Amino acid sequence: SSLFGHVEPAPKDPILGVTEAFLADPSPDKVNVGVGAYRDDNGQPVVLSCVREAERRILGNLNMEYLPMGGSIKMIEESLKLAYGEDSGFIKDKRIAAVQALSDTGACRLFADFQKRFLPDSQIYISTPTWSNHHNIWRDAQVPQKTFTYYHPESRGLDFSGLMNDIKNAPDGSFFLLHACAHNPTGVDPTEEQWREISHQFKVKKHFPFFDMAYQGFASGDPERDAKAIRIFLEDGHQIGCAQSYAKNMGLYGQRAGCLSILCEDEMQAVAVKSQLQQIARPMYSNPPVHGALVVSIILNDPELKGLWLKEVKGMADRIIGMRKALKENLEKLGSPLSWDHITNQIGMFCYSGMTPEQVDRLTNEYHIYMTRNGRISMAGVTTGNVAYLANAIHEVTK
Ligand code: PMP
Repeated sequence: SSLFGHVEPAPKDPILGVTEAFLADPSPDKVNVGVGAYRDDNGQPVVLSCVREAERRILGNLNMEYLPMGGSIKMIEESLKLAYGEDSGFIKDKRIAAVQALSDTGACRLFADFQKRFLPDSQIYISTPTWSNHHNIWRDAQVPQKTFTYYHPESRGLDFSGLMNDIKNAPDGSFFLLHACAHNPTGVDPTEEQWREISHQFKVKKHFPFFDMAYQGFASGDPERDAKAIRIFLEDGHQIGCAQSYAKNMGLYGQRAGCLSILCEDEMQAVAVKSQLQQIARPMYSNPPVHGALVVSIILNDPELKGLWLKEVKGMADRIIGMRKALKENLEKLGSPLSWDHITNQIGMFCYSGMTPEQVDRLTNEYHIYMTRNGRISMAGVTTGNVAYLANAIHEVTK
């Protein structure tokens, strides 16, 4: 009889639900390797020094007026330089339609809505597996989804021939969602050579690549290196789309600072596309938040602060790479007969461990270790202090 009586509770988000369960566990041994947010070696959240300095410069000096509908022009300029290259001809020729977005998620959603509005018969090809929210985003934008082969469970690496076949078999002119670097959840990226082959095949098939770049700099420690896949596609003359985020690489998670860009045929097309992206944003949130955008543009605009940022992002990547090594070495020291090479071969925030949902359940129930049931370990939650405990528990449940 009540107006909302028919509303059932929504299913828990598979990723955010893990943190809730972790917080509710009183055990002093508990470990959270679920959520994808960086932690220092004491398990604490980190605010970068370059961000603190940018905040000092903002404090008391700037007003809180609305940004334009498309967001901060300066922040967009700096974002495009990061993604497309400092001296990109596409930037000079004003061929890129770009708007500030509500971090990477918001950029993906804006693009999906744009796709639905202007290419209503198109579909999106999404890798198996992918970050689970990709499915929600394109579902809510009402773009039909197809999947493509990506991960090879036996080798815990890339199924390159399966991937190439699916690219070839998709109808000409299909939209593909690609992870620019640090594929989530697998940590498996194509090599440079493989990216070149993928780009070539996209050209043959006239597919459109949409890059989700949530981890630029966070994967290898070098933003230029992590942009390599995009640069290869640009060299090959593709039009591309790109979602960028400062959540991981600047630690601005809750600030929702990101950028959506679409490389167009010419400046006129870019102006039209940008105006339509703004039109989509207007009734959803009107204009994006100002603080994170200021932090980003202050850092990237100042050579000294940018230098500090590059050092700090490398520091985060290096800590994660170090923890991969430590986890693998601990498992080997315990005498695990299984191969754990994939822990160090994979890149970025996550290790796709290959553990089954039942093994993960045992980790949680017997060892108070929290992670998603697909076996994805957030390496950012691993520390010098818990790596031995984690390795021992993994060894016990995979015996
Ligand atoms: N895309 C991918 C592939 C991700 O891993 C994440 C973060 N988990 C996001 C998008 C969302 O990032 P943001 O917080 O910038 O929206």
